[in-house]
Amino acid sequence: MVPTNTPPYKSEEIIFFIDLSTDFLKRKTLIKALESFVKEKEKVSGNSKYGLVFFKEGKDIFSIYQKDPEFIIDLIDDSWDERDINNSYFENGLYEILARVFKKSRTINKTYRIVVLSDTVSSLSEEYHTALYNLVIKAKNFSTFIDIIRIGEKKFYEDDVRLKIITSETYGGTLYCKNAKQLDTYLNSLVKSKDDYNIIQPKPPQILQEDITFYEKLAADLISLSENDKKVGILCEQELCPICEAYSDVLYKCYNCNASFHSCCIAEYSITNNIGFSHIFRCPQCSALLKIDKDFVDMVEADQKGEDYQIFSGEEDLEIEAETREEYQEAIVERQEVHTPTQKKVKIGGFFGSEVTINASSNSKGNISINSSNKKETDKISISKLKPPKKRKKITLCSICGTSVKNSSICPVCGSKV
Ligand SMILES: [Zn+2]
Ligand SMILES: [Zn+2]
Ligand SMILES: [Zn+2]
Ligand SMILES: [Zn+2]
Repeated sequence: MVPTNTPPYKSEEIIFFIDLSTDFLKRKTLIKALESFVKEKEKVSGNSKYGLVFFKEGKDIFSIYQKDPEFIIDLIDDSWDERDINNSYFENGLYEILARVFKKSRTINKTYRIVVLSDTVSSLSEEYHTALYNLVIKAKNFSTFIDIIRIGEKKFYEDDVRLKIITSETYGGTLYCKNAKQLDTYLNSLVKSKDDYNIIQPKPPQILQEDITFYEKLAADLISLSENDKKVGILCEQELCPICEAYSDVLYKCYNCNASFHSCCIAEYSITNNIGFSHIFRCPQCSALLKIDKDFVDMVEADQKGEDYQIFSGEEDLEIEAETREEYQEAIVERQEVHTPTQKKVKIGGFFGSEVTINASSNSKGNISINSSNKKETDKISISKLKPPKKRKKITLCSICGTSVKNSSICPVCGSKV
């Protein structure tokens, strides 16, 4: 298989978070609106999956994902009276959904649409909102869009600004539905796929450099091959690495689909196809989130630019006493994990909107635990710890068909200029 730079078809999952604690919206009205939404949605794209999150009495969370729409609507119908009608669990519900987005994003690259139906202001403190905001800005890098429909007659709500921050960060909207009977109109305005909006987005979503530890923990290392694996790299389709031509550049593979790569080949791939950090990328074959050694990628990148590579360039000002390289790296990680609240200015309501300042914590540890899906492989050596050979030849990957092209400016496979 020759991987290309065209991303694989992205499927969409729509997750309804029902955070309704009054009886302003009647069950029948909601069911009717949801049925209308699903009908309209299937005209646009027929294969969306659906999820549902709500809180039962006593703060017990109920969540179900990746189901057909009919199943979800029946479920809402059946469990309507079981929901907690005393409180809003706005933040808690979104924590749960975003944790699932992060977990799934390790292996699958798809679009998540979170639609929150809310009629009550959450009473949780500012810290909860800040923690939520820090998750939201990470989730939007995994194609997550949040829309909130506030249902109720009031003209103003205490959390108007908070809601707008959450939705505008993810290119969604906060809608106010004052007449419950019109819910179907509001829901149907969300039918259009968010991917269609990408063209008019002012700039691509930005990954914050201070969140590097978060993404490194989410991504899996490459692992060593098993005896039965094919001993050919999928990018170069060769046994011996064509870039360094050294036998020491042995193949390592993706834990999820067994696609194997030479260090040089995958480093060059990662430099042009990463998620925002040059060493973290999606597997060209199965889209699993993977990482390779950052210093090695930096070296390859410097090579490409014809620069002298210095491993710790730019970090000399660090006041760290470290005997070994490992200690040094630990120190850097520790430094990144120190909890330092910073302030961030957020613009609401477009260019002419108002600017608000919110606290953005840079504590990378977070509260989300992600189950490692490759536990059984952890005894194998990770490529992150290896130092592949440094003698390298000039070679590039064709940006059209992905073939590696050596000492030529024309791709031998598709004929395009590289
Ligand atoms: Zn893979
Ligand atoms: Zn290769
Ligand atoms: Zn190599
Ligand atoms: Zn080509």
